[in-house]
Amino acid sequence: MKGQSDRVVRQIVIVGGGTAGWMTAAALARKLSGTRANIRLIESAEIGTVGVGEATLPQIREFNRMLDIDEADLMAQTSATIKLGIEFRDWGKAGDHYVHPFGVHGEPIGPVDFHHHWVRENARGRAEDFGSYCLAIEAARHQRFDLPPENPASLLHAYTYAFQFDASLYAAFLADYATARGVDRIEGKVIAVDSDGETGFIQSVMLESGQQISGELFIDCSGFRGLLIEQEMATGFADWSDYLPCNRAFAVPCKIADPVGPFTRSTARSAGWQWRIPLQHRIGNGHVYCDRYISDQDAVDLLMKNLEGDPIAEPKQLFFRTGKREKLWNRNCVAIGLSGGFLEPLESTSIDLIQSGILNLIALFPEKQCAASDVDEYNRLMDLEYDRVRDFLMLHYVLNQRDEPFWRDMREMEWPTSLGEKIEAFKRRGIVPQYDHGLFQPASWLSVFIGQNLLPETCDPRVDAISVADRTNQLEHIRRTIDNRVGQMSGHLAFLEKYRATYSGAAEDAA
Ligand SMILES: Cc1cc2nc3c(=O)[nH]c(=O)nc-3n(C[C@H](O)[C@H](O)[C@H](O)COP(=O)(O)OP(=O)(O)OC[C@H]3O[C@@H](n4cnc5c(N)ncnc54)[C@H](O)[C@@H]3O)c2cc1C
Repeated sequence: MKGQSDRVVRQIVIVGGGTAGWMTAAALARKLSGTRANIRLIESAEIGTVGVGEATLPQIREFNRMLDIDEADLMAQTSATIKLGIEFRDWGKAGDHYVHPFGVHGEPIGPVDFHHHWVRENARGRAEDFGSYCLAIEAARHQRFDLPPENPASLLHAYTYAFQFDASLYAAFLADYATARGVDRIEGKVIAVDSDGETGFIQSVMLESGQQISGELFIDCSGFRGLLIEQEMATGFADWSDYLPCNRAFAVPCKIADPVGPFTRSTARSAGWQWRIPLQHRIGNGHVYCDRYISDQDAVDLLMKNLEGDPIAEPKQLFFRTGKREKLWNRNCVAIGLSGGFLEPLESTSIDLIQSGILNLIALFPEKQCAASDVDEYNRLMDLEYDRVRDFLMLHYVLNQRDEPFWRDMREMEWPTSLGEKIEAFKRRGIVPQYDHGLFQPASWLSVFIGQNLLPETCDPRVDAISVADRTNQLEHIRRTIDNRVGQMSGHLAFLEKYRATYSGAAEDAA
């Protein structure tokens, strides 16, 4: 019988050195330090990385904290700005705008959540725009930012933040981190994979140079191609393009003309949407679209016509298919990053899904034989995460009131039951999904429901326990508290300077 030490995974091979590969390498180097694990990462300069990815979610700060990374240093090296949320323009109908914030709206009044009171007051024509009761939104609108208090005096002062940065600089930062902690970086192109005929476990990969690299656990971070998980293991792909049909994008950076606000912007276009992500030294832009409704030429023209400053590179076209592998962990191979799946960048979820993949892998770190119970649990957790992201992304599309054929079809498509139930619960009684943990808590759903003009038919009957006058006063108090707080905050750029987080790299393409 084998002793425990024979069962421990010691040889870990990561294929791919994009954001996914280096996040994985850095996290494993940190969390497996002190064990005798040998981590090797293979990347190919000839193949390169996908080269896009700029907006993140607040959870990335926990990841950086886990690695003991100094935030100001990271921001300076990745040209990062602060992100307090995403502004959606023209998504309900042309002229509409709202922000999905990294913070909450108002605070409960009596026993009832704030939004029920807002709905009641709004029906009387007495409420301000829903966003004006949220500190993160008001700060974003006024281009202001200070670090959130650790223990806010009230919910009205609570918010969090993420970054807008250059993901390839983030990968480079993490590559230095990981190699300094013993990760072995191997430059070369994988041209063959050798698997055990009986178990199907990957045993080694071969590089173009002829070098053979063997391992016990393989992490596929090879991007859309899914070199190990699909090309070798034929795991299968759950295609979600009926639900999220956008399948192409053009991306282009431009010079800064408008203020570098602490938020990402998404503007609906005739057959998709356009992003604007301000970094310290340039603006990232892209047009995500569905090729069944607009030609490539029209798509790129629309993007270039809507840049705020001169382009500083040629537009780059990207092709993708929304969906995920049937299993993100198959035998001794775990797919993390684009090799595992992609759900379009509307809510900046890709890097977060990489993070979840890594954290779940660390929590369920296997023995050599990769017990089915660990593999199944990993796949269950990741499926849950992907399903929730898919539903939340779809929500933006299905709740539109626009006229173009793309938008009409999006409205009329068949929804997954899980999404239909959530929309129905809100529409009838203002009930919002509440998860124990994970992405997209009630504040997120509320901002899209209300921002895209879906209001509940009835609300919590307990709102009537509060007099009309008390409710009006409370709403006014909340708004004034938020206004006052925003008035005391630093300007966003002044904050970056004060925090010594200003870009320290070469900025020859800056405005
Ligand atoms: C249009 C668009 C916009 C996006 N915007 C955002 C965003 O705002 N926010 C966000 O979180 N995410 C965004 N993403 C997703 C984000 O870009 C990716 O999640 C992230 O960059 C991780 O990519 P990756 O590391 O999985 O793959 P890649 O960057 O493609 O890296 C793959 C790696 O594998 C290596 N490789 C491949 N084949 C071989 C081989 N045979 N041998 C050796 N090495 C090999 C490559 O050299 C490379 O190092 C966006 C994606 C797209 C398409």
